[in-house]
Amino acid sequence: GTRRVLVTGCSSGIGLAVAARLAKDELRRFKVVATMRDLGKRGPLEKAAGDSLNKTLEIKQLDACSESSIRECVNSLPDRRYDVKYSAVIVNNAGLGMIGPLECQSIDAMKELFDTNFFGLARLVKEVLPDMKRRQSGHIVVMSSVMGTQGLIFNDVYSASKFAVEGFCESLAVQALKFNIKTTLVEPGPVVTEFERKVYEDAESMDLSGTDKETAKIFREIYLPYSKKMFASLGQTPEEVAEQTVKVITDKEPPLRHQTNRLYMPMTALKHADPTGRLPLDSFYKMTFKHDKVFNATLAMLHLLKRIGGKK
Ligand code: NAD
Repeated sequence: GTRRVLVTGCSSGIGLAVAARLAKDELRRFKVVATMRDLGKRGPLEKAAGDSLNKTLEIKQLDACSESSIRECVNSLPDRRYDVKYSAVIVNNAGLGMIGPLECQSIDAMKELFDTNFFGLARLVKEVLPDMKRRQSGHIVVMSSVMGTQGLIFNDVYSASKFAVEGFCESLAVQALKFNIKTTLVEPGPVVTEFERKVYEDAESMDLSGTDKETAKIFREIYLPYSKKMFASLGQTPEEVAEQTVKVITDKEPPLRHQTNRLYMPMTALKHADPTGRLPLDSFYKMTFKHDKVFNATLAMLHLLKRIGGKK
């Protein structure tokens, strides 16, 4: 049957791509409620939605940082309470990024990030869970990140927010399953979106006077070029992530976790290979500070694999 999918953060990037992909589904399996904080930014989504606009896709306002905005949006859906025609799916996607030395970041900025990335999810789930339980159906899909399972240098606060998201979902999933509600954490590696551009723009203009010279140098001269290289060689498009998100949504038995980038998997595997944490710590340390040549060679190899993979 038709499924109603509510997606957050649809004005750009992955959220936009997911909403458009679902709306244009050839089998017409979805009714998409594409939401964004600022309806003034609906232009690109309208363009991407094309003919599906106001047919299989409607645009609504939703601010992940406001309980009342979330409630208003969900209340405006015609089947809010008892109509069982639709099995509801939510895709919690709205999120902020943040990189840099910790000493240069304000506690207020960290709180804002958590308010969006973690509390945004908690607010939305609180709002829709009672309905899903009553209907004994639903799917909670959350845009997490590979950084939700493994930290990365200069991503301390962002990674912490995604770990929070992962812990929340991993805990909730057990209870939800009792009510036939599925939970999936989608974990992309680097994705080339506004997100990346915004984060780098902030990084270039960041005031690094709050930290020592050596840390500033590591950030500017090692981390930033390293990170840009990662995006250039391993980066996925939002459309690739959207395609995999649709697969997850239509899966009869959706997984709790889905990594979208196979090329990134060797990195996340390090953590599971050594419960003491020494192996990933040592590897990331060497990759960052010692073996620049090894790292470049690895990237070149992954790049080659990607090209070979693409020809299949
Ligand atoms: P993006 O910046 O293009 O999209 C994020 C969207 O969230 C924007 O449209 C923004 O307006 C919206 N948003 C921010 N605060 C909001 C709020 N309070 N209410 C409603 N919407 C709000 O970046 P993206 O890459 O498409 O990011 C989408 C998700 O994917 C995020 O959760 C991000 O953490 C995650 N992710 C991104 C990458 C990447 O490399 N780009 C990798 C892994 C995970």
